[in-house]
Amino acid sequence: MTLSDSIPPIMLADTAWFFDVDGTLAGIETRPEWVTIPANIKEALCKLSDAANGALALVSGRPIAELDTLSAPLRGPAAGVHGAKRRDARGDLHRVALSAPLAAALAQELKQAITAFDGCHVEEKGVAFALHYRQGPQHQESILALAQDVVTRYPELVLQPGKCVVELKPACVDKGAAIAAFMQEAPFAGRTPLFIGDDLTDEAGFKQVNALRGITIKVGPGNSVARYHLDDVDQVHQWILTLVEKQKNQSIKTKKSVGEGL
Ligand SMILES: [Mg+2]
Repeated sequence: MTLSDSIPPIMLADTAWFFDVDGTLAGIETRPEWVTIPANIKEALCKLSDAANGALALVSGRPIAELDTLSAPLRGPAAGVHGAKRRDARGDLHRVALSAPLAAALAQELKQAITAFDGCHVEEKGVAFALHYRQGPQHQESILALAQDVVTRYPELVLQPGKCVVELKPACVDKGAAIAAFMQEAPFAGRTPLFIGDDLTDEAGFKQVNALRGITIKVGPGNSVARYHLDDVDQVHQWILTLVEKQKNQSIKTKKSVGEGL
């Protein structure tokens, strides 16, 4: 028995799919730009999306443009920057923005402050800032202190710690709010939500999906409010491929029985 056996059977046509990307669909790399999703998994995601009438969204800390590049040819609903930007199923964009003067002041302050820490850098995401320390792990505490100092002075911002990164984002933004917004709209509304993720930033998404009586799956170690668990990205891939294979067999059976009835 594998761990994925404990995940209940999924009704593909009735599910609203929400996937985190880094650490869930794609292995973590030293630099975010080196991350890829294997071609067979992207193909499987396209099939899941088709089976669910397009109710499949990537929900990530990355900007939507990066998600499109990573997941091509899949290009559907998506929430980027932890939900600060959201593209609905019609292709309309929804965004939460920091005021331009605040964003400019923060960019200047953070870029200046981070020069004190070797191997660390600031990523400007338009509506959020990510302080990366994967290549300077000895500076973790200093980077957290820097971020904490900023949110103390700017109450409209909150901290979002992740794996070797801490982000500063608008207080009203999280993955749970993004999923809740999708679930109000076609083709997601009325389906059972399923969210799978690996990091602290995914906990808000798990809470939301649990509240909607959906299925929540945590990838990898660490405490989580998710109800189910997979060990790593490889297990996620195997689980997705098995789902698609089952779907294929089901549609062959359905075609057969239709044919037999003629
Ligand atoms: Mg992740």
